[in-house]
Amino acid sequence: MTFEDLNIKRQFLNALEDLGFEDPTPIQVKAIPSIANGQDVIGIAQTGTGKTAAYLLPILGNLKFAQSLEPRCLILVPTKELVIQVKSQVEQLSTYTDLRCVALFGGVGPNTQIAEIVAGSDIIVATPGRFTELYSKGHIYTRKIKHLVLDEADRMLDMGFMPQIRRIQEVIPQKHQKLLFSATFPQKVESLCDEFLLWPVRVEASPPATPVSTVTQHKYRLPNFMSKLNLLLYLIQNEKQDIKRLIVFVRTRQLAENITRFLSRKLEDEVRSVHSNKGQNSRHNAMNAFREGDVRILVTTDVSARGIDIPDVSHVINFSVPRQYDDYIHRIGRTGRVFKSGIAITFVDKAEEHHLEQIEDLIQQKIPLIKVPEEVEQPPTPKAEILVMAKEIDDQRKRQDPTFKGAFHDKKDRAVKAKEKKARALKKRKR
Ligand code: ADP
Ligand code: MG
Repeated sequence: MTFEDLNIKRQFLNALEDLGFEDPTPIQVKAIPSIANGQDVIGIAQTGTGKTAAYLLPILGNLKFAQSLEPRCLILVPTKELVIQVKSQVEQLSTYTDLRCVALFGGVGPNTQIAEIVAGSDIIVATPGRFTELYSKGHIYTRKIKHLVLDEADRMLDMGFMPQIRRIQEVIPQKHQKLLFSATFPQKVESLCDEFLLWPVRVEASPPATPVSTVTQHKYRLPNFMSKLNLLLYLIQNEKQDIKRLIVFVRTRQLAENITRFLSRKLEDEVRSVHSNKGQNSRHNAMNAFREGDVRILVTTDVSARGIDIPDVSHVINFSVPRQYDDYIHRIGRTGRVFKSGIAITFVDKAEEHHLEQIEDLIQQKIPLIKVPEEVEQPPTPKAEILVMAKEIDDQRKRQDPTFKGAFHDKKDRAVKAKEKKARALKKRKR
């Protein structure tokens, strides 16, 4: 199957050639004909399988060339980074046309974006938040919109964009083509589809929740944070030839900062971090430095895990096991992107075993366990860390069995009771 077979027009074939896309990916083969036919389409395929071009090519083919000032296509994505990325793909694919694309995202003043809308557009790529904001101030005409794309739908729902998505549906003409793309298809996304899409065609490039098959996965069992840190450094320093470009995923911003600081001390210019607590500029710079290959290691939270296209990531290390299980698939999808291969390593402590088991159920495979090398120091676990882990394990058991009281809560209960007893005694004495 070639792009010609998919009836892609000459001007876009030329752009595809410039981009070096030789053949369509499976999701492109499956989605493009239905979208070109004007049907509502749900497209499910792993991260990194070319979903963007799967909806852009038929839409651009339908829009053909610039028309009035008013946009005819709206693409909603969850984050600023994705807005920029999708816009750049629109521009690449429409090089040989005069189609205009405007990007709308928060975190910067709205004036430049408003000026761009006024100048006229055919396609708007936006985060739901910024779009709603500018629409409600009267800056966006929606009456010509005939294609609506919800890209990374799972992520948008996770980020709580449902109210905005509902509002946006209400302000664009009833008769429009709806396209929904997602790497995973959880219940939430299914409900969204039921609510908005009319007789959709569902296309899947592979069963949802299957990691990209070119990714080799491993896990290491470690007792605590320090041991994880030691192993991380060991892997970076001892497999230097192999780890060309590494993303380290951690649970919280604070952790991302701490780990980056620790690594920077040892590795100097090779590390940057990206997470939602940082300014737009610093995020952007870090991302660029990593993309350009100026820094080898990127430490990040799940915020930037989805959708961002970083070519040639050789390794992903999950410093913490994601609690939101499909994030695992998104994380490891950073490596082994289209037609390339990669390695995904997960560090797991006692409290995380349960979560990793759930992930293994989800991906329907056991992740092979590797022994931690002897050279890696594994210091004893500090008391505070033991307590945090104990509490998490108790919480897991309680969720599975609501009658389970748990060692940790037991202790806490006793402490609370003792305190109350003391307070009562004090009161009595006062009286
Ligand atoms: P997804 O949205 O499914 O995560 P993207 O659309 O971001 O994936 O595409 C992932 C990468 O694959 C991008 O670098 C994109 O340019 C590239 N790509 C997309 N389609 C093709 C193709 N047909 N051939 C080669 N590379 C492609
Ligand atoms: Mg995508």
